[in-house]
Amino acid sequence: MKTIVYIEKNPVTGKCRFVSLELAYKAYTMMQEFNGEVLGVFVGDHLPEDADKLFHYGLDKLIYFTNENLKNLQSLAYKNIIEQIIRQEEPDIVLFGATHNGRDIAPLIASSLKTGLTADCTQLFIDDLEYKDEYKGKCLYQVRPAFGGNILATIITPDNRPMMATVREGVMSLPDTKLDKKGVMQEANIDFSMEWVRSEFLSVVPKKSTVNFGSKNIIVAGGAGVGSKENFDMLHKLAALLDAEVGASRAAVDFGYAEKARQIGQTGSVVRPKIYIAAGISGQIQHRAGMEESMKIIAINTDPNAPIFNISHKGIVGDVKDVIPKMIQMLREEE
Ligand SMILES: Cc1cc2nc3c(=O)[nH]c(=O)nc-3n(C[C@H](O)[C@H](O)[C@H](O)COP(=O)(O)OP(=O)(O)OC[C@H]3O[C@@H](n4cnc5c(N)ncnc54)[C@H](O)[C@@H]3O)c2cc1C
Repeated sequence: MKTIVYIEKNPVTGKCRFVSLELAYKAYTMMQEFNGEVLGVFVGDHLPEDADKLFHYGLDKLIYFTNENLKNLQSLAYKNIIEQIIRQEEPDIVLFGATHNGRDIAPLIASSLKTGLTADCTQLFIDDLEYKDEYKGKCLYQVRPAFGGNILATIITPDNRPMMATVREGVMSLPDTKLDKKGVMQEANIDFSMEWVRSEFLSVVPKKSTVNFGSKNIIVAGGAGVGSKENFDMLHKLAALLDAEVGASRAAVDFGYAEKARQIGQTGSVVRPKIYIAAGISGQIQHRAGMEESMKIIAINTDPNAPIFNISHKGIVGDVKDVIPKMIQMLREEE
């Protein structure tokens, strides 16, 4: 079997996006059983400065096409180049990060190849497809929330190839230690046309987010139960003492307690810190979709029957307005 992973560069750091590393490793773990191959495909002006790193996350080969005119996303050009590589390589599976670029290009390619695409998958695995002998052991099961996140749908592409999916950053895990693995870089053989470059960028200012969940071991997240923006400041104080990042439920964002970039869940970020403190969060499925892979979950809630306690490792039944100041006081006394 063969899987292609679309590799993206972070325009701010010039390095590979985390989601590309996560998907490279996911593809590697899926292909292991079949002695399969994992190829990366990169399109842009220059390769990411840490492109070699991709091999330590599972790529066997990185196929790239670079051109000064492809610095920013040119949908038609990116689509035509990646489609040509897919037609040359004939992979069984193609994975894209559910980034702005991935969400733009993946449907264009799927439609051109007349195949299926499942967006925002939360699980991917390969298994038999009972009723089709020719695909025995070769079907990609694509799991994603459906109907507002109330059910998990498992989707397959039984008749067409490749099987395509997008996955958001943070959903798939990275290996604990990098793989001791080498790979090759190969320039793509593309029939390129400047007619595909149709957008003119007058100015592009990469947005530097001040919220960085990936770099912190601890996340202190607040929900509607925190009660006000002023109370939410307590979470920032606690986070500063713990060297943590502050997260929020959608209800907290909707109430204006926290900015949208802090939202965790199905329509926010997906996180997996060592410790996740959920303060005044009920634990609805859409929130859990973004945090339940955290190593330790500590929940603070006045309602002993709140669903968050079903997935938490430690639970404090209490008012966040009492518990958080006590935690802050204890940490300050320790300093
Ligand atoms: C398509 C779709 C996508 C969604 N995406 C997301 C998403 O990405 N992220 C997300 O979070 N939600 C998302 N939601 C919304 C989700 O369904 C819930 O509405 C939301 O997660 C609830 O947030 P909450 O737990 O903060 O609020 P609530 O459900 O209102 O819970 C508040 C909790 O605080 C407790 N509480 C109250 N006062 C206190 C106090 N003083 N001290 C301690 N505890 C207290 C209450 O007992 C309660 O358990 C989505 C919904 C849909 C339909």
